[in-house]
Amino acid sequence: MNVHILTDSVDEGKRTDLPLQYLKGVGPARAKALSEMGITTPAHLVSTYPRAWEDRRILHSLRDVPIGLKTTLRGTILESDFSTTRGGLGIATAMIEEGGIQLEVAWFKKQNPRYDVFASLRHNLTSGRGLIVFGSLEWGPHGKQFRAEDHAYLPTSTSKLEGDDRYHFDRIVPAYTVPELLSGKFVRTLIGRVLDQQINQNVRESLPAWLMERFDLKPLAWAQQKIHFPDTLIEKEEARRRLAFEEFLSLETALGLLRQGIKTAPKPHHYELRRHLLTPFREGLGFGFTEAQKRVIREIFDDMRGPLAMNRLLQGDVGSGKTVVALSAMLLAAENGGQAVLMAPTEILAEQHALTFQRLLGQLPVRMALLTGRQGAAQRKPMLKAVEQGEVDILIGTHAVIQQGVRFSKLCLSVIDEQHRFGVEHRSLLRSKGAQPDVLVMTATPIPRTLALTVYGDLDVSVLDQLPPGRQPIDTRQVSELEAYERIRQTVTQGQQAYVVYPLVEESDKLELKAAVQEAEVLRRGVFKGLRVGLLHGQLPSKEKDQMMTQFRDQQLDILIATSVIEVGIDVPNATLMVIQHAERFGLSTLHQLRGRVGRGNQASMCLLIADCRNEDSRRRIDIMTQTNDGFRLSEVDLEMRGPGEVMGVMQHGLPPFKVGNLAQDGLIIQQARTAAEALLQKDPTLRDPAHATLKRTVLEQYASRWQLGTTG
Ligand code: ADP
Ligand code: MG
Repeated sequence: MNVHILTDSVDEGKRTDLPLQYLKGVGPARAKALSEMGITTPAHLVSTYPRAWEDRRILHSLRDVPIGLKTTLRGTILESDFSTTRGGLGIATAMIEEGGIQLEVAWFKKQNPRYDVFASLRHNLTSGRGLIVFGSLEWGPHGKQFRAEDHAYLPTSTSKLEGDDRYHFDRIVPAYTVPELLSGKFVRTLIGRVLDQQINQNVRESLPAWLMERFDLKPLAWAQQKIHFPDTLIEKEEARRRLAFEEFLSLETALGLLRQGIKTAPKPHHYELRRHLLTPFREGLGFGFTEAQKRVIREIFDDMRGPLAMNRLLQGDVGSGKTVVALSAMLLAAENGGQAVLMAPTEILAEQHALTFQRLLGQLPVRMALLTGRQGAAQRKPMLKAVEQGEVDILIGTHAVIQQGVRFSKLCLSVIDEQHRFGVEHRSLLRSKGAQPDVLVMTATPIPRTLALTVYGDLDVSVLDQLPPGRQPIDTRQVSELEAYERIRQTVTQGQQAYVVYPLVEESDKLELKAAVQEAEVLRRGVFKGLRVGLLHGQLPSKEKDQMMTQFRDQQLDILIATSVIEVGIDVPNATLMVIQHAERFGLSTLHQLRGRVGRGNQASMCLLIADCRNEDSRRRIDIMTQTNDGFRLSEVDLEMRGPGEVMGVMQHGLPPFKVGNLAQDGLIIQQARTAAEALLQKDPTLRDPAHATLKRTVLEQYASRWQLGTTG
């Protein structure tokens, strides 16, 4: 946990690092529950930020209580009543009065045979006392009823709030995520009391003054007070902005350090266009590059031929032709006697890249090797030796290529395919395998701007915004299983091929896999009888996977039943039909990737979704899939629906959790934090200035080991 207010110069009596049991109301059980939340001192409490806020300032008179809207009421208690329904639900009611108007307030609680759930209400709901109550007006079986969510007692209905009650009523009230044993109200009370002791007045400001002034940021002490108990919603936003800004500033500073480390020293290798590999490669392709491919290759070559290491993201929707772009870059490295490595996210994809490269390179004198996690030591050893001795020009593999035993003699270029499966930390590792190698990462997942500044914040960006000629949009529909089978038969009759995908949530889930394999077997013997059907899944030995892919590509199979292992990269232009079973279970980016397996040739292609949409989310996903082929649009909807924490597995991208900042909504703050980080590093590239010491410490604590910052920055 990142705590600011543990300072060394605090008054006795305002110590922030005392055990919580010194606070009133915290016994051993609650102290334990708090410590399980990572809270052991008042300082921790203050930096436990609210999950949400409730505006309890609105006070309605009993005369015009709105229906269904949360509000606060005050009144004098007239009488109370307690009953239990047949289902065991306890109901407490109190009639209150104000200005001649009466209203019934109700509390509902499940009865418990061991104790009286209404003991406190029974004791306190005495006539003549004042009640302040927060809740909403509903129509109950006996007419209008005000359902209470929170309440407090007052000497009279107009008395001033005193003591802890001040934290809960007539103000904007914070809500916290708490374990079952604690109540949000209790945590709110504790935080209120700690803040009232003003211990956080001693917080040492963590941001330099010039930066706070330039970006109009409030002081830390103020923000830590107001994030919990703002007087206005604007104060809440200002407090939140200040704290989120700081989180994003750490991130952007870490990314900036990473960029700096990459871009400072000139790289040792040097490229020239010799063309003895590139020219025959281009001439043998059988198609010309699209304008977009030409432009992107130029951008990449310019970087590679420049004095500093390339650090570039190539973004292009599925099917836009990234592979030949990557291969061009790898050939430039090979032409100059350097080694290049391509890292792919799955075995199948690595294997397929190896096959594609072999086909495209034909007789060219390029030495290639394939390294995957499955190979045994006997196979691996000689290969690793060859790589180390420079006898391999192009190495293709899974993340096996970033493991420790892999050493290169002259690694000049690292390419990462389908980057959305890899994170900043993988790039760092791959980079550390050579002396400032050029790095090219490729992704088919268009990246919303916010994420581009975060997960990809250390990269320059090229965009392949054009598909090869002759591509037709894929016609996507939701259909019944029967319709899908009918369409498969038609497709095969026309000499084309089809995929039927059972996307597994976990490729390693044996039970789920078994179910998919069984279902496939049923199809093979039943509706697809007489057709040539193959089955491909992640658990098959590499050799069989290879065979299966080769057979399918060579049109010896009509139908390939597969799990989501084929999600990325697989390329068989004669396959024109994609059928996705259980489409409702999968995220938009997976669905879009799967659909991208068809529509790769000149023939019209279709994607059929078989889905059972029981909830709103899956309904929306399927609908948007049938409405657009635009990967960028889909990624925006995805971001909106899932939140960025999940989108593209951002969490696996090595970002720490943000306590206040929200990647989906704080685009503007992120942009400003980016600008601030750039200004900061320009002023003080190594953060040597004492004014930047706190910030430096936070950045290193959070990112140094995560991204190997120490080695590059
Ligand atoms: P992705 O960007 O999804 O990785 P690929 O590199 O697999 O796409 O390319 C998709 C298909 O388009 C492949 O069959 C590839 O050979 C073909 N292709 C690539 N560039 C062109 C082009 N300029 N003209 C025609 N076909 C192309
Ligand atoms: Mg690809």
